[in-house]
Amino acid sequence: MTDCLFCNIVLGKIDSNSAGQNDLAFAFFDIAPVAPIHILIVPKRHIENANELQSTDAEVLAKMMSLSQELAEKHSLTDKGYRLVFNVGDDAGNTVPHLHMHLLGGRRLGWPPG
Ligand SMILES: [Zn+2]
Repeated sequence: MTDCLFCNIVLGKIDSNSAGQNDLAFAFFDIAPVAPIHILIVPKRHIENANELQSTDAEVLAKMMSLSQELAEKHSLTDKGYRLVFNVGDDAGNTVPHLHMHLLGGRRLGWPPG
């Protein structure tokens, strides 16, 4: 989608602070971090949100997960822990309609979320 913010970040048409990538997923640091480590992991192909995932998206999701594991290791989060979050829709505060998984860590994270 040419008017999608995250599609344009994946394509390099909009600058981001890249955190890593593989063949199907791209990761970049959130511009408004809510934790010392706050990375967004997105599919390179446009998928609107977690509610729109299909069984045919299994490989994309697996590659997003493997990238999150690599990044958690790289940023020394695996010992103390970290959180992976998909927000869907207005009540969850989802503002960009391109699937993205938040990787949050580096501090104690509250539960339940506010
Ligand atoms: Zn997109």
